[in-house]
Amino acid sequence: MNIVLLGPPGIGKGTAAGKLSKKLGIPHIATGDMLRENVAQKTELGVKAKSLMDRGLLVPDDVVIEMIKEKLQNDDCKNGFILDGFPRTINQAEEIKDIKIDKVVNIQASDEVIVERISRRRVCSKCGFIYHLDFIKPNREGFCDKCSGILNQREDDKPEAIKERLKVYREKTEPLINYYKEKDLIVDVDGSGTPEEEFELVLKAVS
Ligand code: ADP
Ligand code: ZN
Repeated sequence: MNIVLLGPPGIGKGTAAGKLSKKLGIPHIATGDMLRENVAQKTELGVKAKSLMDRGLLVPDDVVIEMIKEKLQNDDCKNGFILDGFPRTINQAEEIKDIKIDKVVNIQASDEVIVERISRRRVCSKCGFIYHLDFIKPNREGFCDKCSGILNQREDDKPEAIKERLKVYREKTEPLINYYKEKDLIVDVDGSGTPEEEFELVLKAVS
């Protein structure tokens, strides 16, 4: 099954996609994670992308399109995949229109919920595991349960960048809802609940 997760930043797409990937046994492909890996390793691409990402702006289409096309050709995508964070523009969607998509799960929540959720997010600096200070709390404050790494706040999770990301989402990404509605692929899911509730709804949407 080829699945796209659509929705505003911070809605929990990554968390839901990770669980779904385990459940269905298909890879979770997150352009944000791939880009952050490049930033961490200071690749040429990472160096270019970092300042845009930190400010909450999109990296150029051609960069992510190339990354994704390469990934989707991998053998492990033969039985399906979960796209998280791609496509993010109509142009990106057009670039993969030859690849069959079975479902587009559109996760929704108000700006208030999104801002609250992003500002409570912390990420392990070592293994990348994502915490939420209320819902997915670390046992020891400031440290990762899995690897004892230090928990940080993503640069783009700080207030100025959150505003920008929401603006970019409304302008560039939201039009994809109608784009996929016209193809009859959209299933709406309420993303304002707990991570567990959200996952159950996402699972139902693809079943
Ligand atoms: P979120 O969905 O929480 O905003 P992501 O981890 O998906 O965060 O993305 C982080 C950043 O990576 C984005 O703000 C953007 O700069 C960049 N990025 C990720 N995916 C794409 C994409 N498909 N097109 C352009 N930029 C992207
Ligand atoms: Zn960790």
